[in-house]
Amino acid sequence: MILDLYHKIKQKCTKLRLQPIRVFCFHQVSNTFDASTMYPSDWTQIEQFERNILRLKEQYEFISLEEAIQKLKHDIYRTEKYAVLTADDGWASLKNILSWLAEQQIPITLFVNPAYLRGEETRENGMNGLLSAEDLDALLLSYPNITIASHGWNHTLAADVETVDFMDATIKSKDYFMQFKNNIPFYAYPCGRYTKETDAILRRVGLVPVYMDGNKNYRYDGGIHRELLDGLRL
Ligand SMILES: [Zn+2]
Repeated sequence: MILDLYHKIKQKCTKLRLQPIRVFCFHQVSNTFDASTMYPSDWTQIEQFERNILRLKEQYEFISLEEAIQKLKHDIYRTEKYAVLTADDGWASLKNILSWLAEQQIPITLFVNPAYLRGEETRENGMNGLLSAEDLDALLLSYPNITIASHGWNHTLAADVETVDFMDATIKSKDYFMQFKNNIPFYAYPCGRYTKETDAILRRVGLVPVYMDGNKNYRYDGGIHRELLDGLRL
């Protein structure tokens, strides 16, 4: 009798549990690895990537980043399992999977750098293979499941610049993204590097900081936490 009651209460508590929202990040997806445009740690083979997503889809409903933040802010309990997909840097190899993700009806947020989109700068090591502004326009027209947000003006690490320079670059990139209707007010730190001061600046200019700390999201704590999807074999 007491054991029955115990199991009933346990069952109820499990049902009312606050499930985490998992936010995944990946970089490059292609058939073969190309050392001139790819980092080994930031790359997944197409077939493996699709298998990983389908495995996750068995357990989680993929929602957009904006839906996720609403749930994190307002849900008291969350029994459904949700996941969010994001990609950093805006590599051209994203073209290999964006139509497949659209077919799967999976929303995705691309965190991109205006300096590279506009061709004004290349990555810090000269590595190319990034989307151009024209590429991005075409993708946004073709795939309404894409939203875009800032990954910094360029890929300079937030912790390596003077606060005032971080502020200037952040405002400059925010202004650039205003031209896109699919722009959302988030900022993914390059390589996940940040400081308390850069977090304060983002909040002051109305951007949500997005980290790369391997954590799951339960309630909104002022930022979004992400897990790396590259290299996973699910
Ligand atoms: Zn990056």
